[in-house]
Amino acid sequence: MTSGRPIDVSLQSPTLSGEDMPFELVGFTSDPMQTSAGEATPPWSRWLPISVNDTYGDPFIPEQIENTTAKLASLSDHNAPIAIFTKAGYSSRVLERLGAVTHIDRAVIFYSLTGLDEGGISFEERVRMIAALKRLFPNTLVFTRPIIRNRNDDPGTLRRLSEVAAAHTGLLVLGGLHDAKKRKKIENSVEDQLIAYCDELGVKTFHKTSCAAAWLHGRDCWVHDLKGPRNLDVLVSLGYEFGVTDGRVVLEQGTTGDINFIRMITSSEVFVHNLVSNYNLLTLPSGKRKLESTSSWFAWSENIDTCLDCNYCIIKQIEYLKKMRVRIGVHPSRLPEIVTGARTTIDFERFRLTKLPRGESGRHTYGDVRVTKPCRARVYASPTRTSGSSVPRFH
Ligand code: SF4
Repeated sequence: MTSGRPIDVSLQSPTLSGEDMPFELVGFTSDPMQTSAGEATPPWSRWLPISVNDTYGDPFIPEQIENTTAKLASLSDHNAPIAIFTKAGYSSRVLERLGAVTHIDRAVIFYSLTGLDEGGISFEERVRMIAALKRLFPNTLVFTRPIIRNRNDDPGTLRRLSEVAAAHTGLLVLGGLHDAKKRKKIENSVEDQLIAYCDELGVKTFHKTSCAAAWLHGRDCWVHDLKGPRNLDVLVSLGYEFGVTDGRVVLEQGTTGDINFIRMITSSEVFVHNLVSNYNLLTLPSGKRKLESTSSWFAWSENIDTCLDCNYCIIKQIEYLKKMRVRIGVHPSRLPEIVTGARTTIDFERFRLTKLPRGESGRHTYGDVRVTKPCRARVYASPTRTSGSSVPRFH
C-alpha cells in the first residue's frame, strides 16, 4: 500500500532537504513546512503528541527561544500535549518571550533537574527558573534525567530533587541514562528511593513523560493504553506499507522510530519483521526530510550548534545531529504533504552507531529495544479526565 499523494513541490527544491539543507539560506520562517497548513490541516495531526526543539539547542536558551515561541504560536490549535524539555538557566528575556504564549494549557514543561550543574548553571538558579516557569505554565514538572551511577544517585541528591518537586511542581517524572543500546536505564533501587521520597512529600511520580502528560490532559496514555488498531487510513496516506495481524500493525521493515510513531497514530502494538535501525528516525517516504519519533513524542526540532554542552549528552554522538545545524520534522499539519511516494532516501547503513549489532535478530517490538515501565497515569485521579478521552478515530 503506497500513498497516491502528490509530491510536495517544495521538496523539488534542492534547498529543502533535511540534513543537506543549507540551513543558513533557508530560514525557519521561509520554509512552508515549518508553518501550519491552516484549513488544510488533517484533523488527526492535531492529536499527535509533539515535542518542540528536543535536540541540541535547549528550547529555552536565548539562542533558541525565537524558534521555540514561533513553533508554539503555530501550534495554537493543537489538541495534543506539546512537550518542552529544558535545563536552561534563568533568563528574564526568555521568560518575557514565553509570557506571550497563549495556549499554555497544551504545553507540558519537563525541567531536567539532576544536581549536576550542567552548563555551569547552579542548582539554585535552576530552582528559580522552575518556579518562574511554573508561574507561566501550570503543567510544569521536575524531570530527573539523567541519574548517573556514582554521580547523582546518592540519597542526598535524590531527596533534594524530590524536595524541589514538592515545593514547586507537585509532579516528577523519573528518567534514566541511555546505555550502549540506547535503552534508558535507571536502577530499581534508585527509582524506588525517588518514588518513596516523593510519596512521603506528596509528589506524584510517573515513569514516562507520556504518562504524565496524558494524566495532565485527561486522555489515555498513548504508550500504555492501546485500544487500536485505528486510523489505519492515516498510515496509508503517509505512505506506510503494512498489514494487520492479531490486532497489531505489522511492517516488513522499519525502525524503532516507526514503532513509536505508528503506535501513537494507531493506538496499537507494532511488530517489525526486519528492524533496520534502533534510531528514532522514520522510514516514512519523506524525501530528504528527516522525521523522528521518540516513544512518547513526534519530534519537531531545530538542531543548532549551541547548547549546554553536558558531558553526558548523547545527541553529540548521533551521526545526523551532533552539533550541526539540522532541521528535524515538520509542522504536524504538513506531514501528508511531504510524503513523496518514493522509497525513503535515508540510508541506514550510513549510520554506524545505529545501535543494532551486526547480524542481530529477534528484535521486533518496542519491548525488544527499550526498557518498558508500567503506566502510573491511572494511579492518581486525573484533574481533567472525562470519559471518551482516547485519541479519536478519524474516519
Ligand atoms: S547539551 Fe545535550 S544533554 Fe545537555 S541540554 Fe543540550 S541537548 Fe540536552
